[in-house]
Amino acid sequence: MEDCLFCKIIKSEIPSKKVFENDNVYAFHDINPLAKEHYLFIHKSHTKNVNEMSANAEQLSDIFKAISEFTSSNSLLENGYRVVTNVNKHGGQTVFHTHFHVLGGEQLKGFGA
Ligand code: AMP
Ligand code: ZN
Repeated sequence: MEDCLFCKIIKSEIPSKKVFENDNVYAFHDINPLAKEHYLFIHKSHTKNVNEMSANAEQLSDIFKAISEFTSSNSLLENGYRVVTNVNKHGGQTVFHTHFHVLGGEQLKGFGA
């Protein structure tokens, strides 16, 4: 989608530090990490948030398979990690291309931890 920051990242029109890519999914370092490891997983098909993505349920499957493959290939699965997706204003969403934050690399706080 034109004028979408993350669509531009997928097309390499804006640089990013890629950590994972397949036919459907692209993942890269968050520019403002909130944990020692902080990656963003996005689908190559543009939707604005997870509610819209859920109409194309195979895209959710693509995302979580990618996260599973990635976290199994390094220490994230064994040590543990967190997935977060923000929706609209109260959720704190600032980029309106659906994205899943993958956080780890240290003990995470909040949510009872
Ligand atoms: P959210 O607030 O859930 O919409 O998350 C948007 C995330 O995108 C934030 O964590 C930002 O730090 C991150 N971000 C914004 N611009 C870039 C960029 N050019 N490269 C990597 N991450 C970015
Ligand atoms: Zn987009």
